[in-house]
Amino acid sequence: MLARAALRSASRTRLTVKSAVRSYLTHEQLPEEHQMIHQMCRKFADEELAPNAGKWDKNHEYPEAAVNKMGELGLMGISFSSDYGGADLDYLAYAIAMEEVSRGCASTGVVMSVQNSLYGGPVDKFGTDKQKEEFLTPYAMGEKIGCFGLSEPGNGSDAGAASTTAVKNGDTYTINGTKAWITNAHDASMAVVFATTDKSLKHKGISAFLVPTDSEGFSLGAKEDKLGICASSTGNLIMEDVVVPASNLLGEEGMGFKIAMMTLDAGRIGIAGQALGIASASIDCAVKYALERKAFGSPISKLQMIQDKLAKMALARDSARLLTWRAAMLKDTGKNYTKEAAMAKLAASEAATMCAHQAIQVLGGMGYVSDMPAERHYRDARITEIYEGTSEVQHLVIAGNLLKEYS
Ligand SMILES: Cc1cc2nc3c(=O)[nH]c(=O)nc-3n(C[C@H](O)[C@H](O)[C@H](O)COP(=O)(O)OP(=O)(O)OC[C@H]3O[C@@H](n4cnc5c(N)ncnc54)[C@H](O)[C@@H]3O)c2cc1C
Repeated sequence: MLARAALRSASRTRLTVKSAVRSYLTHEQLPEEHQMIHQMCRKFADEELAPNAGKWDKNHEYPEAAVNKMGELGLMGISFSSDYGGADLDYLAYAIAMEEVSRGCASTGVVMSVQNSLYGGPVDKFGTDKQKEEFLTPYAMGEKIGCFGLSEPGNGSDAGAASTTAVKNGDTYTINGTKAWITNAHDASMAVVFATTDKSLKHKGISAFLVPTDSEGFSLGAKEDKLGICASSTGNLIMEDVVVPASNLLGEEGMGFKIAMMTLDAGRIGIAGQALGIASASIDCAVKYALERKAFGSPISKLQMIQDKLAKMALARDSARLLTWRAAMLKDTGKNYTKEAAMAKLAASEAATMCAHQAIQVLGGMGYVSDMPAERHYRDARITEIYEGTSEVQHLVIAGNLLKEYS
């Protein structure tokens, strides 16, 4: 609770931060409250996440205590109003926190990211006061977990082709369909579900609903056996004649696709933060090993080919961080940030994959076994190039927006 209060007091200077020239290039240049969040999350990650991340990964164990702690620290609703249990901060703070938490444990990072951006984001932006009281406050406090159901077995990148349906009957909707690959599925009390209310309108006929996961007719598929982020749950949401009150419609009928796309724009900043955390953890691991491991009579850090790898890793991570902070600051100042969020996510996910790959190389045989965390970072990194829009989709978003700027 202390940390939550500290975050609140930090938020009092938020207006000053917003009106300042926003071009922070290093952590040391950040406003005091952002430095405080950075340090708080780093301490939490070093003391409570990193020492357990390997065990959680191996056992596919949901990090429940760490998730509860994130609620206490105010990390489950960083950018939401304190009226709804949030920390009243901004997306820059969120990006910084996501990096540090994911540096400690990328699985814990994705739980935090879904809670803040994919579930909490649309409820905060499009929910009524009443919806926010019920469906945001306990989630922003970390007392309950939410999830986001957009992808289906038949469509992922082509999200507008949703086949899940919602039919209105008086003051209720009946939902039928299956959502695939849903993060937090097995731990969530609520799901934001996208379903077609008017098929003839194609993507403009999609609507968003708040669906309790204990509804009659709601069930879960098996937990997916994944390559990485193994401590987070992923699975299908299966809805067979699930009835929700009409008051659980989020926004208006037909707004679902727009809600989904706006949610993903913001979510990409969170995933960029997660990817930066994985890149940073890979660099930590590679540098420490290079300083200690001796070959041909001296530490391998003296070898120029090793230095070349370390330099490329730091360059990729730091450039991606600047792109991520830029996207966050554009969002925080109310500017359009769709292209910049896609650039940040693309650059950060490629940095994570490259850094994790090279960390294994620096560690040699030790990189290939689970005694060291490098192989986990390598497995965890890969998903950042797939979810919340694949890298191919990020290229489409970037080029589409760039071309618009010239037309
Ligand atoms: C661990 C995990 C967690 C996830 N969590 C969630 C979640 O919480 N909620 C949720 O809704 N979804 C979630 N997803 C789903 C994820 O967002 C999708 O997997 C992703 O969007 C890609 O969709 P797809 O798997 O159907 O691939 P497809 O769309 O079938 O794509 C296959 C390949 O074709 C390429 N491709 C597709 N369209 C184009 C195009 N127009 N141009 C060029 N290339 C293209 C893709 O880039 C990819 O390389 C998760 C997935 C995983 C694996």
